Amino acid sequence: MELVCPLCNAMISYLLKCPKCNHSMENTGAIQDYFDDYSTYLPMELTQRIDGVPHDQCMHLFYCSHCNSDKRVSIDRVFI
Ligand SMILES: [Zn+2]
Ligand SMILES: [Zn+2]
Repeated sequence: MELVCPLCNAMISYLLKCPKCNHSMENTGAIQDYFDDYSTYLPMELTQRIDGVPHDQCMHLFYCSHCNSDKRVSIDRVFI
């Protein structure tokens, strides 16, 4: 079994409405290459979480081309 993000692996499609204009937002991909899953936490907590904590969520960035806003959504990883 492997823990994967269903969105990164095209197992699901995630439809998100823009909170500002209600336009459908576009998934621009996972952003953990740039930010850790816990990037919203304080840096001290971030370093504490590097070891031993399984990353069971994948952070995605959704973008609204209509009003030019973006939103982060954390997707729960699933076992396959
Ligand atoms: Zn993902
Ligand atoms: Zn919008």
